[in-house]
Amino acid sequence: MTADTAMPMLNPAGHRGLHHEEPLLFELSQAGTAGTDWAEPAQAGQGDALGGLMRQDAIGLPELSEPQVVRHFTRLSQQNYAIDSGILPLGSCTMKYNPRLNEKLARLPGLAEIHPLQPLSTVPGALKLIENLADWLVRLTGMDAVAMTPAAGAHGEMCGMMLIKAALQDQEGGAQRQRVLVPESAHGTNPATAAALGFKVQAIPSNGRGRTDLAAFRAALGSDVAAVMLTNPNTCGLFEDEILEIAAGIHGVGGYFYGDGANFNAIVGRVKPAELGLDCMHINLHKTFSTPHGGGGPGSGPVVMNARLAPYAPIPFLQHQQGKTRWMEQDASGKSIGRLRAFHGQFATFVRAYAYMLSLGADGLQQASADAVLNANYLLARLQDALTPAYSAPCMHEALFSDKFLDGTGLTTLDYAKGMIDAGYHPMTMYFPLVVHGALLFEPTETESKATLDEFVEALKILADIAKKDPSRLQQAPLYAPRRRLDETQAARSPRLVWTT
Ligand SMILES: *Cc1c(COP(=O)(O)O)cnc(C)c1O
Repeated sequence: MTADTAMPMLNPAGHRGLHHEEPLLFELSQAGTAGTDWAEPAQAGQGDALGGLMRQDAIGLPELSEPQVVRHFTRLSQQNYAIDSGILPLGSCTMKYNPRLNEKLARLPGLAEIHPLQPLSTVPGALKLIENLADWLVRLTGMDAVAMTPAAGAHGEMCGMMLIKAALQDQEGGAQRQRVLVPESAHGTNPATAAALGFKVQAIPSNGRGRTDLAAFRAALGSDVAAVMLTNPNTCGLFEDEILEIAAGIHGVGGYFYGDGANFNAIVGRVKPAELGLDCMHINLHKTFSTPHGGGGPGSGPVVMNARLAPYAPIPFLQHQQGKTRWMEQDASGKSIGRLRAFHGQFATFVRAYAYMLSLGADGLQQASADAVLNANYLLARLQDALTPAYSAPCMHEALFSDKFLDGTGLTTLDYAKGMIDAGYHPMTMYFPLVVHGALLFEPTETESKATLDEFVEALKILADIAKKDPSRLQQAPLYAPRRRLDETQAARSPRLVWTT
């Protein structure tokens, strides 16, 4: 395909960060170029302070001027698609805009420069901040206690399931409870967590409405069931509307109800998970409360829990005694699951989450969840004719489509996603959840304006049109990304990590 027939710029508002190539500094190097003017070094033997060890051959560093270096790194910083440059519609991730205020506060020297080994008596303000944040989390979820140390959602799941395991082992016959029920739409970390703790995972199918099949769930119940792990809203972006029946079912057989709260942002300030019957739940501060994530961290996955599980909470934990709050570094009851990580948690993330809560206030948090749901439903409504909604009902915070609209074109969800790169957009989450064929999962978050969503929708509609009329254009996309289609398997199996000439 030549440039003449290449896909036009679909959307001037789209981002082109992935569209340019930037050579390495070594490749830009030109012999004799320098950013500074060094005095000629003394020759060996003439006042050589290095005792004859002076380098004889070239040092092997690239030779460049200062502007070349500055431009190189500036271009590299732009060779990225980030929330700061455009909408990041990844579903199941909640890639929110992170208010600059959070960043400013997290960088205050009094907070940023605390050393983890500093005596606790020297950091009462930091401890108060963690306590206040913990208080918000307990209030927003209606739970009794919270473990602040888990370092991510998956770590929080591990913490929560360890609490459940410890509680069961404390009960007569509890250790025989080996089965954990996990809906098949669950995030992969749910079954992985249960399996890692030695439980047997049993998948529960979804029904035609994208929710957990209540009849199948009930059929799976038994006295050997330890827990059910449920995400609500679930990964199809739908509220589990039979959650009270699920809670009654699991409690009826003496099991525990674990809640995956990664999607809490859709219901913050509207529903208290404790009132839905959950015994404990992890919260992804980095998804719901706006702290940056991606590239492996930093994250933070506090676990809220009810009074039944609180005695097993990991150390360190906060204890209120005689009007004073103390950090308990030792487990006095002998029931704690122990220490999950060093120190008191992901502190800089706590600062950001707390700043976010204080700047929005209780009413602002409520509005954020409403706007997140409104934005997702706006996308769903505006795209329902161009793409194929996976379910007919309104959604929560993310809009899910199947690949049915590509039937007869020979194209896959991947081809459509590659077309989005040419249009200047980061693709949505694809092929997840697994219960929907060729899934396309969009989460706009509450932070995107109607104008941004409208531009995004127009680009997606044009792409859907191109898919029908000229599918070969999408088969070859991305045309404008320097790497075109990657052999992803090869890249993962044999990465080239060292630069060679
Ligand atoms: C993101 C996510 C997790 C895991 O959280 P991490 O912080 O990435 O470990 C678990 N469940 C669901 C539904 C998620 O979206």
